[in-house]
Amino acid sequence: GQCAAVCPTGAITVRQDVEAVRAAIADPAKTVVVQVAPAVRVALGEPFGLEADPHLMGRTVAALRRLGFAKVFDTAFAADLTIMEEGREFLERRAKGEKLPLFTSCCPAWVQFMEQEGAAELANLSTCRSPQQMFGSLAKDLLPDELGVAREDLVVVAIMPCTAKKSEARRPEFAQDGNPDVDYVLTTQELVRMIQESGLALGEMEPEGMDMPFGLKTGAGIIFGNSGGVTEAVLRNVAGLLGGEAVIEEVRSARGRRTATLELPDGPLRIAVVHGLANARALLEDVRAGREQVDFVEVMACPGGCAGGAGQPTKTSGKTGERRAQELRRLDAAMDLRIPHQNGQVSKVYADRLGEPNSPEAHHLLHTHYAVRKRIQGEGIALTGEGHGRIP
Ligand code: SF4
Repeated sequence: GQCAAVCPTGAITVRQDVEAVRAAIADPAKTVVVQVAPAVRVALGEPFGLEADPHLMGRTVAALRRLGFAKVFDTAFAADLTIMEEGREFLERRAKGEKLPLFTSCCPAWVQFMEQEGAAELANLSTCRSPQQMFGSLAKDLLPDELGVAREDLVVVAIMPCTAKKSEARRPEFAQDGNPDVDYVLTTQELVRMIQESGLALGEMEPEGMDMPFGLKTGAGIIFGNSGGVTEAVLRNVAGLLGGEAVIEEVRSARGRRTATLELPDGPLRIAVVHGLANARALLEDVRAGREQVDFVEVMACPGGCAGGAGQPTKTSGKTGERRAQELRRLDAAMDLRIPHQNGQVSKVYADRLGEPNSPEAHHLLHTHYAVRKRIQGEGIALTGEGHGRIP
């Protein structure tokens, strides 16, 4: 289906990644930890008929432990951290009036699009690594001591809604002396198959909690899985907005492109949210031509954001996308903590290791740089169909 159309080598890599993870788990010298992306939890239940199960995430945690993962963590923790960094980065740029609009950088298909076609605006791309890569970098920095293992023996696996995340993890800047920050990326579909092949009855597993310190998250980290979620999380952190405000309702709408303005004491904050790379390209052209005046732009390559990613189970109906989006909002609303700076484990990481957002330590571990890349004939990013960004 879709995979064959957009990712010619996918079928082979897919199998290899699953086998490599199994081999690492079976190797007694290795400690294998896993991070689970926000969008995974609202789609993984579908092939098991468990999409309405409120305990799905807890059962998934239990299944991951039975599969042999030593620790189960949440990419939403790193999403909270991303907001701390990206929010600070945005406010600093705004104070200086430079490199605006700021474009988000958590979608690797969009990042590659900018490297290939947005050379003039590359400085506008946030230097923040994606939550997947912030997680990997921090895990490889902090967990060896905490777990008493060598960095080379710590294996970080990511469960992602996304095939582009596999290439992101292989970028050479996201490694230390050849040892990658994220060793393997499995898609939601691959985890579904691993669970099915293991014979575990997901629906009957007793729900379990995630491990600390990286299992703690706020609702803001969870809504990263929706288009508009990053923007909403930033607005929570900089202005304390929790929903009900006109600007948030606009950000939550499902249209391919929406814009909203928030009045702040130092002037208006103009926001644009787009999903699908064709919409992103049109917006970029409007910004270039001066037809759109914006300060902050969120871009996700997939329709609906990561919840609609190409690594998710095939949608069973036209309502699937909306159900996943609503489920992410329900999970967010059920959280006690909903604003990133309320995440006590994030605060602890700053106190113990990073100092404050955008410090030299934070830059070293959590930020990156970009390079202009040539687009190769016949390869590149698919701009049509499901909108999924293919990374060659
Ligand atoms: Fe991956 Fe799509 Fe999410 Fe981008 S929007 S990170 S391509 S799932």
